[in-house]
Amino acid sequence: MRHPEPDLPAPRRTTREWQAADAAHFLHPFTDHQALASRGVRVITRGEGIYVWDSEGHRILDAMSGLWCVNVGYGQPALVEAAARQMTQLPYYNAFFQTTTPVAVALAEKLAALAPEGFQHVFFTNSGSEANDTNLRLVRRYWDLLGQPERRVVISRENAYHGSTLAAASLGGMPDMHAQGGLPIPGIVHVGQPHQWAHRDGAARGLDADAFGRLAAQWLEDKILALGPKTVAAFIAEPVQGAGGVIVPPASYWPEVQRICDRYDILLISDEVICGFGRTGRWWGCETVGSRPDLMTFAKGVTSGYVPLGGVMVGERVARVLIERGGEFEHGFTYSGHPVACAVALANLALIEELDLVRRVREDTGPWLAERLATLRDHPLVGDVQSCGLMAAVQLAREPRTGAAFDPAHAVGMACRRHCFDGGLVMRAVGDRMIVAPPLVITRAEIDEMVGLVRQALDRTLEEARAAGWV
Ligand SMILES: *Cc1c(COP(=O)(O)O)cnc(C)c1O
Repeated sequence: MRHPEPDLPAPRRTTREWQAADAAHFLHPFTDHQALASRGVRVITRGEGIYVWDSEGHRILDAMSGLWCVNVGYGQPALVEAAARQMTQLPYYNAFFQTTTPVAVALAEKLAALAPEGFQHVFFTNSGSEANDTNLRLVRRYWDLLGQPERRVVISRENAYHGSTLAAASLGGMPDMHAQGGLPIPGIVHVGQPHQWAHRDGAARGLDADAFGRLAAQWLEDKILALGPKTVAAFIAEPVQGAGGVIVPPASYWPEVQRICDRYDILLISDEVICGFGRTGRWWGCETVGSRPDLMTFAKGVTSGYVPLGGVMVGERVARVLIERGGEFEHGFTYSGHPVACAVALANLALIEELDLVRRVREDTGPWLAERLATLRDHPLVGDVQSCGLMAAVQLAREPRTGAAFDPAHAVGMACRRHCFDGGLVMRAVGDRMIVAPPLVITRAEIDEMVGLVRQALDRTLEEARAAGWV
């Protein structure tokens, strides 16, 4: 599709000029700025469908949906028009002082209709991080109101990602994040993740997927018993870990986790920021893995990333206590229920329904992606392939047969990511695990193209590895 150069609210410059100005002024998230400045940042200027273009005119297939969010793809006029209409009519009003806006009410109603049974209420935030901070506030408030203030500890998992504020980064299980700034904050502890490949030489040795799933769930129960069940407030987890490397748990894991949470009366928080809104082939990841959460975190896909919005779906168990016994809940954000964000979310959800994207992921594109990715198993660099709906991981290994890993110093994943970019594909590297999560509008033909680009990048990575003597 021909795309006219838009009139940007920024001056026209060459790529080098943008790079210099970026290096001079823009502190990026999760970035080594010295390294970035020496290489030069990539400047992305527009998008259409599943593709973005850089300032040099290269077309790039965005197999990461921006950052797991652009689920309806780029350039959807319905979302743009919804934002423009709302901005014209009422760009902002708050929800603090006994006021509301029709569009925020309509979105809350819509989310309650889409959520699993037992969810009737939503608390809006601007991001997933704020939503998980909100969860911590809600969970503590809940147990306080029930007269069990000693239930304070929230259990999470190693390598989890729940955001980047102090509380959200603490809830996450990323060692590099914890190493900066004295995290986690008190009252948050972590257990192992159901990542069979990572545990292949240890706990998972000799176990089939089923047995390993039950073992990983047992780690949660062991932790609860060690802490004392009456001190544990909640367990938080992504149905399928995203940023940790698309870790698809064995089928036995979640039913066991649910049984354990029920047994000790512990609240379950399902972080649906990536898994929600169709990514796994159901509206919510918990429906795919079979859990019954009390709270659900959402963000990213709710607006397909067109504008920021996040929130917490609050199940009736918590909502009742909060509403009937709680009085004022001393928490909220200036932009909770922002009208423009809510308008875009409503348009986005309507489009997902109109295009039947959730069913397509479940019955068509998800299985197709799994089938196409399976063809990579014969590649000399590929040790494992996992997928769930439209999120997938390709595990690189020095010796796929034995599962022997590369020397981390060789940063093979980063090398592969470079070859992806050079070949016109955005794929992310989590260590030596390559991950994709393409827009949900991707077609079978586009999946074929994407997997072709992945194979090409793997071939080039193999050439580089051989030339460098890494294999
Ligand atoms: C991205 C993400 C978050 C944080 O969302 P932000 O909007 O970046 O604050 C939380 N949880 C999960 C699972 C995520 O992927």
